[in-house]
Amino acid sequence: MQAVQTILKDISDKYPHERDFHQAVKEVFEDVIPYIENNDDIEKLSILERMVEPDRVIQFRVSWQNQKGEIEVNRGWRVQFNNAIGPYKGGLRFHPSVSLDTFKFLGFEQTFKNALTSLPMGGGKGGADFDSKGRSDADIMSFCHAFMLELHKHIGPDYDVPAGDIGVGGREIGYMFGMYKKLSGRFDGALTGKSPSFGGSLIRKEATGYGAIYFLENALKHNGEDLKGKSCVISGAGNVALHAAKKLIEKEAKVLSLSDSKGSLYFKDGMSKDQLEELFELKEIKRGRLSEYSQGDYRDGQEPWDIECEIAVPCATQNEISEEEAKTLIKNKTKWIVEGANMPTTAQAVKILHAEGVSVLPGKAVNAGGVSVSGLERTQNATYLPWTAEKVDEKLKEIMKDIHDLCVDGSVNQEKINYVQGANIAGFKRVAEAMMAYGSL
Ligand code: NDP
Repeated sequence: MQAVQTILKDISDKYPHERDFHQAVKEVFEDVIPYIENNDDIEKLSILERMVEPDRVIQFRVSWQNQKGEIEVNRGWRVQFNNAIGPYKGGLRFHPSVSLDTFKFLGFEQTFKNALTSLPMGGGKGGADFDSKGRSDADIMSFCHAFMLELHKHIGPDYDVPAGDIGVGGREIGYMFGMYKKLSGRFDGALTGKSPSFGGSLIRKEATGYGAIYFLENALKHNGEDLKGKSCVISGAGNVALHAAKKLIEKEAKVLSLSDSKGSLYFKDGMSKDQLEELFELKEIKRGRLSEYSQGDYRDGQEPWDIECEIAVPCATQNEISEEEAKTLIKNKTKWIVEGANMPTTAQAVKILHAEGVSVLPGKAVNAGGVSVSGLERTQNATYLPWTAEKVDEKLKEIMKDIHDLCVDGSVNQEKINYVQGANIAGFKRVAEAMMAYGSL
């Protein structure tokens, strides 16, 4: 479609280095062409042109003093992408590889993901090029405090509500919320992912991984299957990966692997509950590496995608599965890709997988459980009423089922559901309808 091609060319001319952002826009816009063709107002009101420009980009210096007394300088960002359906909402990522491109891609994706949850949340994302690996707790605290010294001016419970992402877990949110509270003089829901002891929701830390598996269960059920005995390969060993593994084991699926940026851990007969508990302790408490774990087969420098499995669950980072990995998965007869991470499968890999009948369950739907429970945390903060873990988990299950059903409805092909397209159309439609209602804004 000409309008879509013109915009794709326009953003690659204007922002030639923002490759992840181009990829994210291309994937969404090409999928929603059937919807745009039936809605003249999308072109008439320049909805696509407006959707690719963030409402605003905030970029700032984070200078801070490390434990040795040295001053270090990092770059921080917050991309407030689109608040058509609610206050900006989306995580903060601390990783040395990030740039404005990363946050534009993530903020754009977040806008449609949040729309799928049916909760009132717009899209935003942010973070810093800070590398927390090997840092002392004191350094992490100083950095988080310095980051919030600037960020607090741009957030608030009804305006922009950040949360965690890669490199930002409960510890970092605690340091940042402490500083936010001090600077603003307010105790409110301006950040989610807080500890339940000071306003956080139970199940928030589990929500993304659990939600991913609830989504998968719905998709399997739609196809007349279930999880029992299914072999699963997981990448990553962080928040999403570990909780996805926990839920899979609980459902009697076989978890064959976890990985980190240095290698993968292979459990030929499936990981046991006890082994997973030890890995939780290694990663969350000791903050160690998978290579330090003595059980399982540690494969130095190797990704897990060559391990034969029925279900692949990428939970590390973007573009983990490209053409080569996709071909290996196809050769090994993998039937489902469950994107726990954001955009872990490249567009080309998705094409190859779809052509071979592999179902790709897209991140913006699969991992929306995290932001959904963040939304529920906002509700609890606004009403001053904490919910029980059971209540949050039930609500999470309901939301994941609804997102699954929205994706099914959005798929043009009803014989073989295209979940990627279904998610894109359902999310896009909600945001576009709100933007059209506001006129030219
Ligand atoms: P964590 O920081 O807890 O864990 C990330 C894991 O991925 C680590 O094991 C890390 O290994 C690995 N990893 C990171 N970068 C790379 C890389 N370039 N190559 C190989 N491995 C890598 O992050 P989360 O689990 O929170 O997030 C994982 C993904 O899920 C991200 O895409 C995130 O955006 C997405 N997501 C997270 C949500 C949440 O609630 N946490 C919500 C929705 C999406 P190492 O330690 O070696 O770096």
